[in-house]
Amino acid sequence: MAQPAQITAPDVRVVFGAGTRLDVATEARRMGLRKALVLSTPNQRASALEIAEALGDLAAGVFCKAEMHTPVGVTDAAMAHVAETGADCVVSIGGGSTTGLGKAIAYRTDLPQIVIPTTYAGSECTPILGQTEDGVKTTLSDPRVLPEVILYDAELVQTLPIVMTVTSALNAMAHAAEALYAPDRTRASDALAVEGLEAFVTGLPQVLNDPADLAAREATQRGAWACGTVLGQVGMALHHKLCHTLGGTFDLPHAETHAIVLPHAIAYNARAARTELQPICDLLGGAEPGAALYDFAKKMNAPLTLEGLGLAEADLDRAADLAVSKPYPNPSAVTRADIRTLLQAAWAGDPPNT
Ligand code: NAD
Repeated sequence: MAQPAQITAPDVRVVFGAGTRLDVATEARRMGLRKALVLSTPNQRASALEIAEALGDLAAGVFCKAEMHTPVGVTDAAMAHVAETGADCVVSIGGGSTTGLGKAIAYRTDLPQIVIPTTYAGSECTPILGQTEDGVKTTLSDPRVLPEVILYDAELVQTLPIVMTVTSALNAMAHAAEALYAPDRTRASDALAVEGLEAFVTGLPQVLNDPADLAAREATQRGAWACGTVLGQVGMALHHKLCHTLGGTFDLPHAETHAIVLPHAIAYNARAARTELQPICDLLGGAEPGAALYDFAKKMNAPLTLEGLGLAEADLDRAADLAVSKPYPNPSAVTRADIRTLLQAAWAGDPPNT
């Protein structure tokens, strides 16, 4: 069955299609917007300039200083550009870091956001904003933060380096995997989680086989949309908490950390939520969901060790302490000893403990 080119969820307009980024001016006009501030990271400045050109006289300025984990100081600097340019909306082109900056501006101003994602992180689909100040990352959820329009252009993920393609895909799959056992899950969220997982289980090997395959790239972007949307619908648990701790405290890269921790966190929670995690075994084969994800990650040539990300073995004790310092709902009991064992396996790249 042909996939729809557009999805209009209650609050978000979502458009899929190769080249759709170049329709950004039409999308802005549709909302009556006239002065767009284009956002990106320094690395993606060329993409930001292309979007500014596509916006033509609707482009009010370009700010290319987005950073991972949305530092408040960067948002302050971007706010000065919002004021100077009189921007009436932001257009974010990039991954979760750029989207985070657009969300931070929207949180302060309620300006509408058009997001043009270039990774599979899925931040564009959530009302969640993580911000960093003085090295401390805090997260909030607010309807102002949810972007109004998402333009998924397969040509943009085509340039995503292969390692990032894999780690970003596993980052997206992590949202869906944890959604399967969320206490507030619904039949609709379960269906969305399975849809997202399936899109990557099928699409990622196709993308790796031919990174230029635009149809396969679009299929993975549909997976990113499903995984990101379900992330915004239900609560996350152990996996996301561990990655938050490791990323925030030890400055580990976001997508890679998710990719490495995912099989271990899912194996840990399969002890209490094996039935809920069955869709992972149905999609990937195997009897254990954590092991199935580990094998999949290995087959996709994902990084497997936290050591390889630069985490010192001596830091595992502190990571375990931090990971258990604030209790949160999780299917399996979170004990310091068990988390320390999990972290050791993820650090060394061993198969997950069941
Ligand atoms: P990113 O946005 O930090 O991108 C990583 C690097 O890759 C950047 O230098 C970027 O410019 C570059 N890049 C991105 N797309 C590219 C492409 N197509 N081609 C070449 N280079 C490209 O990475 P990310 O993993 O998408 O985002 C991570 C951030 O997003 C974290 O801060 C995380 O907390 C946040 N996040 C938030 C949510 C949420 O709902 N609030 C969800 C997921 C992630």
